Amino acid sequence: MLSSFSRFFIVVFSSLLFASVVVAEEQSTKNFLGTDSDLYEKMWREQGHQVVNQIAGDQPSAFLGFSPSLSVSNSRFPNAYIRPNGKIVLTVGMLALVESQSELAFIIAHEIGHLLLEHHQGKGEQQNDKNSEALELEADLFALKALTSAGLETSAGIDLLLRIAAFGEKQSLGTLYPTLFKRAELLRRHLGA
Ligand SMILES: [Zn+2]
Repeated sequence: MLSSFSRFFIVVFSSLLFASVVVAEEQSTKNFLGTDSDLYEKMWREQGHQVVNQIAGDQPSAFLGFSPSLSVSNSRFPNAYIRPNGKIVLTVGMLALVESQSELAFIIAHEIGHLLLEHHQGKGEQQNDKNSEALELEADLFALKALTSAGLETSAGIDLLLRIAAFGEKQSLGTLYPTLFKRAELLRRHLGA
């Protein structure tokens, strides 16, 4: 597993499927757009680094084969993706939905999973929905394992996916639902919950 990584092409997987993270607090980040964006990004990057260390130890590059880094993009739509160089991009829309460090860890681990599992391999061709759904499920299970070994809250993925679904519902983004519910259901089954 550790040797399976590569760094070509931009990997944009979780598109439209992910949500964000707000470190164990009330949802006061909803109005974050008015805050100093540099500070905001710095805060999230620090949180992200902590999470990466929880998942991959003190030397993530030795453990994973690449060095994950974190950056925040301005889109209000909940989304996350990883680039082939290990840069994980989270939108502010995603971060606004995150409510715990475990949820942040779930997203980050999910994205790391895409890169480790070489999900970008099919990049040339258009991936069909079924195929991309399978990749999402696979990355979710990877994230679940990572959270389990890190001693983090294993139900975080379920909570987060359902919260994203609820967000999509509110915003009338109906197409998001089936995959999100399916993903949450798979996690639930693996947790035996
Ligand atoms: Zn994904």
